[in-house]
Amino acid sequence: MAKIKIIPYGHQWLDDNDIKEVIKVLKGDWLTQGPKIEEFEKAVAKYCGAKYGVAVSSGTAALHAAYSVAGISSGDEIITTPMTFAATANAAVFCGARPVFVDIRSDTLNINSELIEGLITSKTKAIVPVDFAGHPCDYEEIFKIARKHNLLVIEDACHALGAKYKGKKVGSFSDMTILSFHPVKHITTGEGGMVLTDNKNFYEKLKIFRHHGIIKIPEKGKWYYEIENPGYNYRITDFQCAIGISQLKKLDKFIEKRKKIAERYNKAFKNIEKIIIPTEKIYAKSAWHIYPIQIRGAGRKEVFEKLFKLAVGAQVHYVPLHIQPFYQKRFGYKKGDFPIAEKYYEGAITLPLFPKMTDKEVQYVIDSVKKILIINNAQKMI
Ligand SMILES: *Cc1c(COP(=O)(O)O)cnc(C)c1O
Repeated sequence: MAKIKIIPYGHQWLDDNDIKEVIKVLKGDWLTQGPKIEEFEKAVAKYCGAKYGVAVSSGTAALHAAYSVAGISSGDEIITTPMTFAATANAAVFCGARPVFVDIRSDTLNINSELIEGLITSKTKAIVPVDFAGHPCDYEEIFKIARKHNLLVIEDACHALGAKYKGKKVGSFSDMTILSFHPVKHITTGEGGMVLTDNKNFYEKLKIFRHHGIIKIPEKGKWYYEIENPGYNYRITDFQCAIGISQLKKLDKFIEKRKKIAERYNKAFKNIEKIIIPTEKIYAKSAWHIYPIQIRGAGRKEVFEKLFKLAVGAQVHYVPLHIQPFYQKRFGYKKGDFPIAEKYYEGAITLPLFPKMTDKEVQYVIDSVKKILIINNAQKMI
């Protein structure tokens, strides 16, 4: 096959309608703090089955805001997975809290709920499950533990917009659910994020936190406001929300395409001895944010580099957080602490998966992986 442009692991899909909606906003009165914000929040909340949504400038800002309004502060602990993007734990550190990591399940690569209860202390405030690759965690077990110990469940669903757990949409059951609209995620606003909740108190506080901690008190004058706790400028703009509203209309189609590609990969790779394909449990409908395979018995690094030479822009999700220098130094974690996460990481490669991918590109990725791992049709690997 002729050499083609590098195929990235993820990519946005913007069309003329998205662009038209942005131009409309740019020609109007409100660039920020205007009506598109609430329109977007309501549309996403409705789609996910949540009462309220608060749109912010990124998924990271959404995590920080959620932890803050949950009252997570200095000396507190949250329980989460080391197999996530850094922001899940970093945002807890912003609040002065300690991320207590729990090893993952080897099948879904999600937090192992059986290990959570043993790590709860008087300082634990929240369980923060991450729906890795778009596959929801086992929420029945997680909620049992959370209710028993009076803990909040703050779900990092940045991989999982549109996914379902036992028929229920992600965003409809956790105390707060976090979304990201980075270009590699299911829908994009360039940068952007959202907190979903059914809790009115959290909703009010999130809006205040997003806007400097400003609380308006009109009884004391139309201009008058007070600050009880300094917040941030975590606002998103109206033109970003206009893209988001337009993108949301295509979300189901996007997810359907992601699923189709994942199915093609599954079929192509399931009989290759040295590849472990992702699992989808019967209780789950994955939103297929990424397609992570594990290479067994062959050098992951070598395979990864060979893919790049063939213009397949693979990725690795993620370097486990507990072996990051910061988390080792600050919290005393070390290599060997979470063997399942480490074993997954050693073999992990994320293959390209995004709705705009053409059939030809999908086939090219399949052929490239096979070419690297299989010699002469025999199951003889590098
Ligand atoms: C993308 C992502 C985030 C952060 O989102 P940004 O919008 O990039 O700040 C947080 N957690 C997970 C699991 C993510 O994938």
